[in-house]
Amino acid sequence: MASPTREIATAIEQAQRVADMYADAEQVLLQRIAARVADGVDQADEDLYAWEAARLAELAQLRKEAERIIGRLQRAAKAAARKSVLGAWAAGMDQAVINAVLGVHDAKVRKRLEQVLRDARRLGSEKLINPGQGVDELARQTIEKIAAVELAALRAVDDIYRQVIAETAGRALTGAQTRREAAQEALARLAARGVTGIGPPDTIRRWNLESYVEMAMRTATARAAVDGHLATLRDAGIDLVIVSTTPYSCSRCDPWEGKVLSQRGGSGDREEVNLLTNEPVTVRVTATVEQARLAGLLHPGCRHSLSAYLPGVTRAAAKPATSGSYDDAQQVRRRMRQAREWERRAAAALTPEVKKKALATAREYRADARRISTSKGLPRPR
Ligand SMILES: [Zn+2]
Repeated sequence: MASPTREIATAIEQAQRVADMYADAEQVLLQRIAARVADGVDQADEDLYAWEAARLAELAQLRKEAERIIGRLQRAAKAAARKSVLGAWAAGMDQAVINAVLGVHDAKVRKRLEQVLRDARRLGSEKLINPGQGVDELARQTIEKIAAVELAALRAVDDIYRQVIAETAGRALTGAQTRREAAQEALARLAARGVTGIGPPDTIRRWNLESYVEMAMRTATARAAVDGHLATLRDAGIDLVIVSTTPYSCSRCDPWEGKVLSQRGGSGDREEVNLLTNEPVTVRVTATVEQARLAGLLHPGCRHSLSAYLPGVTRAAAKPATSGSYDDAQQVRRRMRQAREWERRAAAALTPEVKKKALATAREYRADARRISTSKGLPRPR
């Protein structure tokens, strides 16, 4: 059986596919912009102002094309986003069963516990067929969040096009560059940045289409996995959970590792019954799950998880051997972002040579990302 954290990781990785759809659409949009800019760019005999006016007259057509591309994207992405969130929830429910029995050495206790959890898992599955409010609401909010950037993306396409036309005309006027060279330079600079915008109310900084969707999807699927997990434990009558120990270090969460949290009750010392001996045992509850979340535990991108805490049975796990730090993982993601940037530049290329060079650079960054992840034992980036 695959290790349980890997199952969750797989569910969360599926969220990346939704972000990939946006990255692909971003490239198609840049291609369309470049194609319109290239129109008549080499006709030196044509008046520069006439060229500029002709390009701007095509803005309405470009807008229609962009609307079609984004409309198609929206339909596909909505379905995929919902599937990812529900999948992560289900993976979280499975993990609740696997994790809880993992550390139980007493065969009788393990068997009884597994039965209780399987029943709870089945109950949860029925809710998923007719989804409970929790996961359904989370999926709905995620789709809404992603859809909110699409209008801004359309505006960004407009802005990029206008800016390239204005810059090209401005530079070609001074005669320092040919019209094509000026257009290529403006396109390359804007393509490197990608389709960006001022985010919806909850994001202050500028976002890039793909990174925004990626962050929204990762956050939602991670949340769904944890919530599915907790729902199964609650259905099984288990209130206490313990924070996992990861091989990665994360300064915000490290103090929480191995701590016991409560789903319903409060914090402080609590009398429980040792499941092995039936004797009373005092358990120190550090905080509620909600308090820990508010304090930063399970933040976006966090690799920690929660699992059942069984008094007298569960022992805090020792820190596993490191295989790749958080920084290594960040390095891989940085390379992948750079690869994307060069793929966008390729999409906006006006000549085969520029395109070829940009694609070669993108390939180098991808190879570099794979090399780092292989040497550090991290999951292989696509
Ligand atoms: Zn963390």
